[in-house]
Amino acid sequence: MTPSSDSPQKDPAPFLTSKWLWVLIIGLILAGAVLPALLPDKEAPMEVLLLQVNDVYEIAGLNHDSIGGLARIAALKQQLLEKNKNTLLILAGDFISPSVFNSVKKNGTALGGEQMIESMNAANFDLVIFGNHELDFSYTILQQRINASNFQWLASNVYHQVVGDSLAFQKNRTDIPRSWTKKFTDGNGRSVYIGFIGLTIPDNKGDSNYAAYRPTLTVARQLYDSLSKTCDAVIAITHQDEKDDRILAAAIPGLAAILGGHEHDQRVADIGEVPIRKAYANARNACEWKIVFDKKNTRPKVYTSFIQLDTSIPQDAATEKVVGKWMDLAKQYFIGLKYDPDAPVCPLLKDSLDGKDEDVRSRPTNLTRLITNAMLWATRSYHTQIALMNAGSVRVDDVITPPITEYSFLRAMPYRGPIQVADFRGDSLKLLLDLGATLIGDGAFLQYSDNLKKVPPARQWTIDNVPIDDSRFYRVAIADYLIRGLQKKMEFIKPYKRVIDFIPKDSTGTELRFDVVAATIAWYRQTCSAK
Ligand SMILES: [Zn+2]
Repeated sequence: MTPSSDSPQKDPAPFLTSKWLWVLIIGLILAGAVLPALLPDKEAPMEVLLLQVNDVYEIAGLNHDSIGGLARIAALKQQLLEKNKNTLLILAGDFISPSVFNSVKKNGTALGGEQMIESMNAANFDLVIFGNHELDFSYTILQQRINASNFQWLASNVYHQVVGDSLAFQKNRTDIPRSWTKKFTDGNGRSVYIGFIGLTIPDNKGDSNYAAYRPTLTVARQLYDSLSKTCDAVIAITHQDEKDDRILAAAIPGLAAILGGHEHDQRVADIGEVPIRKAYANARNACEWKIVFDKKNTRPKVYTSFIQLDTSIPQDAATEKVVGKWMDLAKQYFIGLKYDPDAPVCPLLKDSLDGKDEDVRSRPTNLTRLITNAMLWATRSYHTQIALMNAGSVRVDDVITPPITEYSFLRAMPYRGPIQVADFRGDSLKLLLDLGATLIGDGAFLQYSDNLKKVPPARQWTIDNVPIDDSRFYRVAIADYLIRGLQKKMEFIKPYKRVIDFIPKDSTGTELRFDVVAATIAWYRQTCSAK
């Protein structure tokens, strides 16, 4: 509102009597008392809203579309924007992979995250950082995805490694910045600047090592020192272990907030005055940050709350349409591979299958037992004795609720891949098993068939209740990723085994062991009907 009007008075004469003059004078006095409150107040508190999600691999909602999904995130952002135009939607890393879509092909080419970028564009994301999984694909694919995105990327410590140098990753030939400063202006004409830094866990160098990392703390300190000179607040968006977020907060107590990702479950920690928040994976919920700037040069007040993205949140129609298009494409693709995505696998059973990362990477679950037992069964004609799988083969990070369909397993094991058969000497097998058991929380944690056990009190490994003999050879049904030496921390197994029958990835055949997903579905159908 402005205190004066420029519009000409059309007919002032009749009002200029003494009575009207007094009314005018009193009115002006009153206006004088009221108007300062209506004038722009550059000292008024100013609020910025950040809507945070992290580790979002699914474009559609989970549990029969009842929770999460990009269309709900889009609608929630829209709701916040209506309250406050100074709202940013942020994804703290891990979104283009892994996904059931990694194996879906369009015109013979794997989608490799295309479905996610297009859906995120529709949902109006503002800012993202690299998670470890952004580097799952080849450099060429990653570059295509970045170029196709409508949102801002930020990379403070991860670089593109080229011969003899490390350069900034680029989006359409422009460097992705190491820090990003955003100016927010409110209705009073007041402005604040927020400086963002984005830190990524250095544990994925991408296919053929195209990524390089600089130490997160050193980089964060440098950027904080320069940003804090010009910004009203500096915020770190991170994709790393919570313990490293805590170290970061303690090292840089001036940070206004840490928006984190990577763990997949909700985390809340306050180190000194620095709040650290992580939402559940797959946008089961989102964290709403309210950053309130009171006066210039004082620390903003920060308030956070988690919002459940359940059926109480509507779905944005435009995003829903894009998501629906990709979901249909995936369904048609799997139908082409002779899957029937909607077909129930075990309609009688009421149990859910536990595919949550924290369980799958620490102990056997009913899902991992199902898969490893299926691997053993599908290779029985080779006389395999046990089955071994890296926990990272299961990528659903979710409890799969009935009805269990073929799509449930395609989602659970997006990499699919053949089941390989190899012989291991007893001593090297025990070495592998001992190491696998210690790697709790890691994708290298080993899952194995029910007939393999570690028996107290001597903690001896047994197969069908017989201790493993160091000098004997054992025939193992083993995940493709492990046998090819791709699993970090277990690369050493490559020379330790004698491969009996190797199936190249993506080859097709009628045997069930050509595809671990097909084998698991067939085994589950069989054991289910046997009950
Ligand atoms: Zn991650």
